[in-house]
Amino acid sequence: MSDIIQLLPDHVANQIAAGEVVQRPASVVKELLENSIDAGATSIKLLLNDAGKTLVQVIDNGKGMSVTDARMSFERHATSKIKNAQDLFNLNTKGFRGEALASIAAIAHVELKTKQEQEELGTHIKIEGSTITSQDFIATSKGTSIAVKNLFYNIPARRNFLKSDAIETRHIVDEFLRVALAHPDIAFLLHHNNKEVYNLKENNLRKRIVAIFGNKMNEKLVPIDEKTDIISIHGFVAKPEFAKKKRGEQYFFVNDRFIKNPYLNHAVISAFEGLLENGYHPSYFLYLQVPTNSIDINIHPTKTEIKFDNEKALYAILRATVKHSLGQYNVAPVLDFQRDSSLDTPYKFNSKTTTSTPKITVDPNFNPFKSEQGNFQPNTTSFKRENSNWEALYTSADTSENLRQEGLFDSHQENEAVKTFQIQKKYLLSSIKSGMVLIHQSLAHQRILYEEFLENITVKEAMSQQLLFPVHISFSKEDIEMIQSMKSDLENTGFLFDSITDEALVVKGIPTSITESQISLIIEQLLDDMKLEVPETSFSHFDVMAKSFAKSLAIKTGKTLSAREQETLVHDLFSCKEPSVSPFGKAVFKTLTVEEIDTIFNSY
Ligand code: ADP
Ligand code: MG
Repeated sequence: MSDIIQLLPDHVANQIAAGEVVQRPASVVKELLENSIDAGATSIKLLLNDAGKTLVQVIDNGKGMSVTDARMSFERHATSKIKNAQDLFNLNTKGFRGEALASIAAIAHVELKTKQEQEELGTHIKIEGSTITSQDFIATSKGTSIAVKNLFYNIPARRNFLKSDAIETRHIVDEFLRVALAHPDIAFLLHHNNKEVYNLKENNLRKRIVAIFGNKMNEKLVPIDEKTDIISIHGFVAKPEFAKKKRGEQYFFVNDRFIKNPYLNHAVISAFEGLLENGYHPSYFLYLQVPTNSIDINIHPTKTEIKFDNEKALYAILRATVKHSLGQYNVAPVLDFQRDSSLDTPYKFNSKTTTSTPKITVDPNFNPFKSEQGNFQPNTTSFKRENSNWEALYTSADTSENLRQEGLFDSHQENEAVKTFQIQKKYLLSSIKSGMVLIHQSLAHQRILYEEFLENITVKEAMSQQLLFPVHISFSKEDIEMIQSMKSDLENTGFLFDSITDEALVVKGIPTSITESQISLIIEQLLDDMKLEVPETSFSHFDVMAKSFAKSLAIKTGKTLSAREQETLVHDLFSCKEPSVSPFGKAVFKTLTVEEIDTIFNSY
């Protein structure tokens, strides 16, 4: 038999390696940003087109490369950062594998411009699919610019696998923010489709955090500072009262590298013991410095996982440190010299109370129960299906007539008010013709509000109440971008905006169904929900919005309802298109027929 094993050509090996290193545009962003930091840059620009799918460009003012190094940088296993195996145990750089540029150049069109300080001219190299297509000298400033165009141009399967621009942008912004938070002493700029998204000046850590997450963050931060022989910890945790329902901003950096570590996360969470409501997550920005030889960062190709020599001790120290800082903050204001009181203007709520009494229209002849229930369909499709009848269902004459004909109620009750009872401040019980119905009050209200908002957004002109004094709410840049993109939808629900600036929202009108004190709550909930769902179509956009509002505003379990309120709730529920399921697909009510009740008592 002849020999059959051969070495793969370089460009094939590079493509294979690229599969591991480059999953999506965000991976390119991470590698390029890290290279710029390793090159000692103090200012880094990230330019994107189309969520990085057509362009990711990083421009830095770092030390640049010589002509030879510029060519070498695209070779596999070519690195200036380690020389021997021993260096692996003493890493002070982000990169060390020498794989990133070779991998990226195998699957994109790459253009490099680089110049070292002392050189007259810089080097300009173009490379496509691992092949250098041109190299010449170029007049350029000190530092390096790498433009990565048309990612995966030669691997259609990978290109088609990329998600929507919204999702890919999120991944990029996540990477960008991790790097920016790890290096507040470096200035970062992010442009997307020629629009500035972030412009982060060189700053201290607190101001960097505030620049990213908005002024409101400033008052939330509790400083953390501890030095021991095996670890030093600094950074901030957010006060417990600002904990979030969704896992919010949770950042660990070890030796300036963002990492995920469930074990250390647990240490922080347990320090909050007794201070958090169930299901709430604290925000934290914690910077751990450990001796480089006590960690192994080589266990994961994308390097967000890390192995510590003495994890147990670190756990104990971290937990104690956070606990101590929280304790201090509870007893006395903590001295924090980085604190900038000029940033302390998060809310400008006015003490004015707007009480808008809901208008209740009661039709005495109205008979709200349908004969058919069940039919638990996902509400989005059913809404689409019945879209054309939407308005008809709200013209109550028609609807109540239909419902009356179906005659679910005892006929002698027809002209009387529906009698309901509240049970455990959670359920409503009502007698119907065939037996009885048990309604979950909170889920019922969610359904009512959901349909109301959906109708406002998609069909009707929404009612708006003008605020006497506009309300200012500050948000992070990222959130503001998102609010901008939802502006017209929000206006359809009844919101009116005075202005939307880079970091604040000025609200001058709100939907009649909400009160002034609920504004920030429901917008924050909406942002959280939008981030989780990343709606792809405009319909699901509306749907997420209506669901989010419904969830925020629905009356909760534990609320006592007056007879009138109970009646209105039942009435409104059964005027809904789909009363039987909550917007999130849960059963809203359950009927029990007389026969079923009979079986309970065995009384046939
Ligand atoms: P690694 O970062 O693991 O060394 P890369 O493929 O990312 O591998 O980069 C290869 C080499 O190219 C680096 O070791 C560095 O010497 C050089 N290099 C890459 N990017 C830059 C940059 N922005 N400025 C200066 N040198 C760079
Ligand atoms: Mg690198």
